[in-house]
Amino acid sequence: MRNHTITALWEEIPDDADDLVLVSGGFRIYVCLCGKQLPDRTAAELHAMETGQCTTCLGTKVEHIVPDYAQDCTACAGTGRRGTQLRWQLAHAEAEAAITVETVRAVIAPLSGPFRLSEVADAVRDALGLPVGRMPVGPRVRDILRRLETEGELILVSAPDRMLRGTGVVLYRDPSWEHATAG
Ligand SMILES: [Zn+2]
Ligand SMILES: [Zn+2]
Repeated sequence: MRNHTITALWEEIPDDADDLVLVSGGFRIYVCLCGKQLPDRTAAELHAMETGQCTTCLGTKVEHIVPDYAQDCTACAGTGRRGTQLRWQLAHAEAEAAITVETVRAVIAPLSGPFRLSEVADAVRDALGLPVGRMPVGPRVRDILRRLETEGELILVSAPDRMLRGTGVVLYRDPSWEHATAG
């Protein structure tokens, strides 16, 4: 069996580069060890797919967000495998169905001060009796809290843990929110 290690090499990144394009696979050259031509991100993802590798990290197990920052790939739980990525996608869909906006609202309603994402996720897991590690509870709860933030119901009160590219690309490990009506 051939080795299909796909490597992404960073190109020169202009100062005014589009942050979204940058974090979603742009400004890179993709090469596979087997020699197949991979002219762009789409081709690289397709090749990862046909060789059984995760389409987010291209089998590397690591997601390179910006040139000087990488993290374990969340799409495939750091395995690099397409099969795990698909199973994890299914688990995301399950979490979406199991954890509703109402569930999260009920959990945060009695909280008067700021609350952390991890606290809310734990409380939701307890409330629904979900086992740890079987479903991406944290990411689902974060999506809901961010939605409530966008809709003006919550206010984000913590500063980013890391700025990866000015204020355009920031990283929050365990952000805190509070109710917009508080204080
Ligand atoms: Zn290949
Ligand atoms: Zn991956």
